[in-house]
Amino acid sequence: MTTFADLGLSPNILKAVEEAGYKTPSPIQAQAIPLVLEGHDIMGLAQTGTGKTAAFGLPLIEKLKGEGVKPDPKTAKALILAPTRELVNQIAENLRQYVRKTHLKVNLVVGGVSINRQIQNLAKGTDILVATPGRLIDLLDRRAIFLDKARYLVLDEADQMLDMGFIHALRKIAPLLGTPRQTMLFSATMPKLMNEIASAYLTNPKRVQVAKPGKAADKIAQSLHFSAQVNKTELLKDYLNDSPEGLALVFSRTKHGAEKLKRHLESAGYDAVSIHGNKSQGQRERAIRAFKSGEARILVATDVAARGIDIPDVSHVYNYDLPEVPENYIHRIGRTARAGKGGEAIAFVSATEIGYLRQIEKLMKIEIPVAGGVRPAEEKPAPRGGGGGRRGGGGNRPRGGKPQASGKPSGNSQGKPKRRRNRRRQSAA
Ligand code: AMP
Repeated sequence: MTTFADLGLSPNILKAVEEAGYKTPSPIQAQAIPLVLEGHDIMGLAQTGTGKTAAFGLPLIEKLKGEGVKPDPKTAKALILAPTRELVNQIAENLRQYVRKTHLKVNLVVGGVSINRQIQNLAKGTDILVATPGRLIDLLDRRAIFLDKARYLVLDEADQMLDMGFIHALRKIAPLLGTPRQTMLFSATMPKLMNEIASAYLTNPKRVQVAKPGKAADKIAQSLHFSAQVNKTELLKDYLNDSPEGLALVFSRTKHGAEKLKRHLESAGYDAVSIHGNKSQGQRERAIRAFKSGEARILVATDVAARGIDIPDVSHVYNYDLPEVPENYIHRIGRTARAGKGGEAIAFVSATEIGYLRQIEKLMKIEIPVAGGVRPAEEKPAPRGGGGGRRGGGGNRPRGGKPQASGKPSGNSQGKPKRRRNRRRQSAA
């Protein structure tokens, strides 16, 4: 079996890895670490939870440590871009653990908090800067940071960065880095645009991959429950009552919907918190802390806010609304069954979401087993901004027992809807 020592890491870094409690390298680490140490660009297809932060972080630290020179003021030697504040925080937290036995300094910059403090921190020089693109551009415009000394670029959760419209920011930031540059791109899915990104920013990349595109973790028991939109809250409460143990992550399509649902659950006596784009950084962090510690058992979130967050004990993922972008379904259900544990992912599907369900099943090449409800005739989704799903259409018979184990297609084939053109829209955060 491969060990971390086999991968070419030095004793100080091995010590930090040991202190982090990692015994053996994960598959993505075993593949990527030697390649990064050899100086290759990397195109990594891996979901969060696979250990990809250490896959790029450990060899990056090894290389920077080897340079033995302090960074100049207002410069960074390596830049890691990630789409959300939470993910930036999480990456920086992990890296700080890995650099413990070195002299390297990790800084992070995210929006939603005071920029002045960040300007001060950057003034002293940074080895590894972890940033969301928007705040970084702000700091570049203020000449608080210069990237010409940066020789390493990591694009993490690259597909989500594209979904969130960060392509323009990326086009602005990437040319500012120094050359030659080693670039590592990690993404959970590989939409077509990713190949363009890869050819624009990577040179002869080595591909590393731990799961096939569109394939969700095998340990997740997926099921769906047909329900009219108006009945989903009661249905959710039924499910929550049935499984009072563990942590439940509930996905809502809109910020407004997430907040409304969280308030309702709270007023009904559930320990629920929420994260979405209308929450301040402090509020989001508090909510995640409460959820991670089990103080709040239910976290209601939008896609973007929850992206990449590492919460090991999520036992249930509820798709209260189906995502409009099918890849997001994979990201969502990937929040459970982490680190070898099992998990359940249950989707509530209304008449207006049948089209989304079809796209998801097509992408994943499976038919998700039906746990309850009656498949309604398909309805067109309401126009964007129309305030959530429309009423009616969905039957909501009491469900028959627990969701089934995943994997095998169920025999459900009622009322096959007519083909309609797929619509792909960005998910609201
Ligand atoms: P990531 O995919 O980088 O977000 O990592 C997911 C989780 O796995 C984090 O909590 C890491 O601390 C943890 N982790 C990363 N590598 C290993 C490893 N080799 N062994 C055990 N846990 C790991």
